[in-house]
Amino acid sequence: MSKQVIKRRSRGFICVNAHPEGCRRNVAQQIAVAQKAPRDAVTANAPRNVLIIGASTGYGLASRIAAAWGYSARTLGVFFERPPDGDKTASAGYYNTAALAERAASDGLYAAHVNGDAFSDECKRRAIEIIRRNLAPVDLILYSLASPKRVHPRTGIAYASVLKPIGRAFNSRTVELDAEKVMDVTLASAAENEIADTVAVMGGEDWGMWIEALAGENLLAQGARTLAYSYIGPELTWPIYRDGTIGRAKQDLEQTARALNQMLAGKLGGSACIAVNKAVVTQASAAIPVVPLYLSLLSRVMGAKSLDEHPIEQMCRLFSDFLATGRPHAADAAGRIRLDDREMRADVQSEVAALFPQVTTENLRQITDFAGFQREFRNLFGFEIAGVDYEQAFETDVPLADSPA
Ligand code: NAD
Repeated sequence: MSKQVIKRRSRGFICVNAHPEGCRRNVAQQIAVAQKAPRDAVTANAPRNVLIIGASTGYGLASRIAAAWGYSARTLGVFFERPPDGDKTASAGYYNTAALAERAASDGLYAAHVNGDAFSDECKRRAIEIIRRNLAPVDLILYSLASPKRVHPRTGIAYASVLKPIGRAFNSRTVELDAEKVMDVTLASAAENEIADTVAVMGGEDWGMWIEALAGENLLAQGARTLAYSYIGPELTWPIYRDGTIGRAKQDLEQTARALNQMLAGKLGGSACIAVNKAVVTQASAAIPVVPLYLSLLSRVMGAKSLDEHPIEQMCRLFSDFLATGRPHAADAAGRIRLDDREMRADVQSEVAALFPQVTTENLRQITDFAGFQREFRNLFGFEIAGVDYEQAFETDVPLADSPA
């Protein structure tokens, strides 16, 4: 037992602690959205047994909640999170999952978890054992990892991903989160080995290994589907995103989608594809230079048009409009599901592009929704959540258990 008053401690684009009660309320709020989300009466195509890789925060957590509370799916979540340790709090993803597990148990939903390195063979083995016992055959696998590093399971080589432009340096503006300063930044172009390393971490190889491991063990259902998430975004972020090192990794992910699609279609009448999601505030996106400023403007512009969505609304739409309709889903020319349609609307993007060069440290809070960005960022770690008394002591040593099979 370790009850304590927990005050937010942050360093740049990371909070080093998390609040269990704030995280619990975040999860409860997402569950409430998923329960109320519109869905087709015909849900014959709705997933029943779902594996989510990267399931504890951001898009993976929202996907898991949308599947479980929207469609009563049984879920296995894989993630890499820090458990509580003495007087140190756990990471937000650990508390999110503990809260999700507790709610799943009381709502009669099966939810199992593997907290480990998804890139490792050991983690895949543990997931496979659980699936064989309680979740077979799996009909949907969602790949939502965002990781800064990967140790290759065959060679033992450690790769680190970088967020850099390719070919030439990129000059832009970003916002320094702690100091709230708008600054010019120059990002040096990536070396060849940095591009290759980023592809090794965030590209499609590990996704392919998961699907092959499951297929090899005959744990995939007829018609099994798998999706991985990507981002394209507007021109102002292209040098650092679409055309940068992370963009190369996403191209590799798309290539993996095509290969897996062929394999699954041939073997099981299944499919693989990419869903291109909207830019949202997550631990991964806040770390990308330029993106916090872009997100602060995007939220302002989309909010004014009542178009803004958080990961949970995006993932509810993924299920209601694409995955659970009982019809083949709509796709763009490259075969991708597009959930970024509202973000990419011409009127939204022209307003964001016009405002972007005008932002200064002095007008940051007038021109952009920086306050909203900051609040959402702190919310990710369970801080600044309405209704939580941050002067009160809370138990940090929260257990994480599977809900009954
Ligand atoms: P996130 O940081 O919120 O979540 C990352 C997840 O990966 C967590 O569950 C974490 O525990 C897990 N993880 C990280 N390393 C792991 C490891 N070694 N083993 C097991 N689990 C590990 O990230 P996010 O922003 O939700 O990103 C998820 C995906 O969505 C990424 O592919 C990202 O590119 C994509 N995407 C994000 C945005 C955005 O704006 N955030 C937009 C479009 C697409």
